[in-house]
Amino acid sequence: MSERETEGERIDLRSDTVTMPSDRMRAAAADAPVGDNVYGEDPSVNDLEATAAERLGTDAALYVPSGTMANQTAARVHTERGQEAIVEAESHVVRYENAGFAQHGGLQTRPIDAGDGAVPSAAQVADAFVADDLHRPGTGLLCLENTHNAKGGLVAAPDAIEAAAEAAHERGVPVHLDGARLANAAVAADEPLAAFTTHVDSVSLCLSKGLGAPIGTVLAGSEAFVERARGVRKLLGGGMRQAGLIAAPARIALTENVERLADDHANATRLAAGLDDLGGLRAATPETNIVLVDTTAAAVDAETFVERCADVGVLGGAMDAETVRFCTHLGIERADVEAALTRIAAVV
Ligand SMILES: *Cc1c(COP(=O)(O)O)cnc(C)c1O
Repeated sequence: MSERETEGERIDLRSDTVTMPSDRMRAAAADAPVGDNVYGEDPSVNDLEATAAERLGTDAALYVPSGTMANQTAARVHTERGQEAIVEAESHVVRYENAGFAQHGGLQTRPIDAGDGAVPSAAQVADAFVADDLHRPGTGLLCLENTHNAKGGLVAAPDAIEAAAEAAHERGVPVHLDGARLANAAVAADEPLAAFTTHVDSVSLCLSKGLGAPIGTVLAGSEAFVERARGVRKLLGGGMRQAGLIAAPARIALTENVERLADDHANATRLAAGLDDLGGLRAATPETNIVLVDTTAAAVDAETFVERCADVGVLGGAMDAETVRFCTHLGIERADVEAALTRIAAVV
């Protein structure tokens, strides 16, 4: 039995945001050359932004404090107040960003249910589009999400993104890709990050989730887009000064922690299979690092199941009344997954 199994150390599967910076990241922070990033003079931030642009296949990139700020900034740059944004119905910008599209952008969201897919189809985008006229300000943005968080880390392949994006572009509508977990999608699809960005006008990538950086997201696109995004970042209060202290470890996350996401995916697959085998719980095989567990057949609601798991030191989160989310990440090894399964078996 592993130490964690015998000693009852807690196994934190709430989110990949709980990942801790490595010793190498802490050393990089301590040694980072810094300057005033609002003046564009922080070498470590500039280095991170150049590296991110290269990996994402864009002309430029901007380091922002959070994924939420990246999405909100992109929406402000692409749209005018009063326009509509086509969004997937259960996407992060709809569920978890405090209605920021409405509050910061003055946007009306038009939610589309992509069903089994992570992103809407071309036909759905075409249907959702509205032209501007006397009564309507028109569609100003299509916002996609990859991987899709609320759908259990579902991957949109590059061609699905292309189809949706082309349907928007044919109508003169720009496209933002919320790629908080785009690195997970890239590893799962065995494609480079840049394969997903060819047809979008901007893309965000969280460095502080599975990639393990302590803080930050990159927002990437054309030079003109990033120039305008820099101004919106300042407007939203995201102008950072000696940010090289966090950019240096974030660069390590981007350059060294992408390939290892495959381990998280394998661990998530094992966790889902083990939970499904317990009887009562239903967990489909995940495509990436997010396991959604349906508790309906176990005759227990999600909140209660989460509490029972917490009692035995396994942490997860309730997504809705009967769905629990577990997320694997670089702080979780295979032995932790096995220990979590043993402990959960004792409580169901
Ligand atoms: C986490 C997440 C974000 C926001 O990131 P924060 O850094 O927590 O603001 C945006 N989109 C998706 C899909 C996410 O999972």
